[in-house]
Amino acid sequence: MRQKFRKGILIFSLLMFPITFMLLSPFVIVVSAANGVLNGSAMIFGLLLLFSMVGSRLFCGWLCPGGALQEYVAVVNDRHWNSKGKNISKYITWTVWVSFIVYLWLQNDNLKGDFMYFIEFNFQYFIIYAIVMVLIYMFTLVTGRRGMCHSLCWMAPFMVIGEKLADFLHIPRFRLMAKADDCISCGQCNKNCPMCLDVLTMVEAGAMDSSECINCLECVDGCPKKAIAFGICQKHR
Ligand code: SF4
Ligand code: SF4
Repeated sequence: MRQKFRKGILIFSLLMFPITFMLLSPFVIVVSAANGVLNGSAMIFGLLLLFSMVGSRLFCGWLCPGGALQEYVAVVNDRHWNSKGKNISKYITWTVWVSFIVYLWLQNDNLKGDFMYFIEFNFQYFIIYAIVMVLIYMFTLVTGRRGMCHSLCWMAPFMVIGEKLADFLHIPRFRLMAKADDCISCGQCNKNCPMCLDVLTMVEAGAMDSSECINCLECVDGCPKKAIAFGICQKHR
């Protein structure tokens, strides 16, 4: 039931994407910064960082339109796409991108905020939207399960930073918890995980924290022994 609800929210988010996609754009934030504007994407990315200090990556698992599209592409290509090498690329591109934005902001003495800057609904807007959708679709079609989340997502690093910051400051946040004694090693959690994480090994080790986990709760809901729980708590030391 919970997963049906999650998928319903993801579909809704995907349907709303023609309206919201410029507010999640890695490009518009650069154009805005070049013109001395702190735009809607910049504000939303900042809010996502703050939210993740308590909500971890719930946005990715439950609300991200790009994630929604990828989950439906996985029906066509269910290939596992998850390794340190594949995951690190998003941090490299993110660092270059954010450094450039900060550089542009610093060039302007009078940085002003404008949530809707550069957003104009016209034919050109929807052509750009269509191109972005095709690119996300094609990338995931080649890579497999949430390949873009692992290798290319420009929003994920903001949330991973929020998670690390919360742990550093001992702020309780949303996380999974394992009851290793209840696990029968059936491997269902590994099969269900859209991020291709080795959940079984995580459960056995009692180490459920992973910066690639999107808190979708597929592993929790699919476990026949209820060996995985979730809640808001501090990092175990
Ligand atoms: S689905 Fe549950 S019982 Fe099966 S391996 Fe995963 S944690 Fe263990
Ligand atoms: S470990 Fe569980 S909650 Fe995290 S991404 Fe995988 S299935 Fe979702």
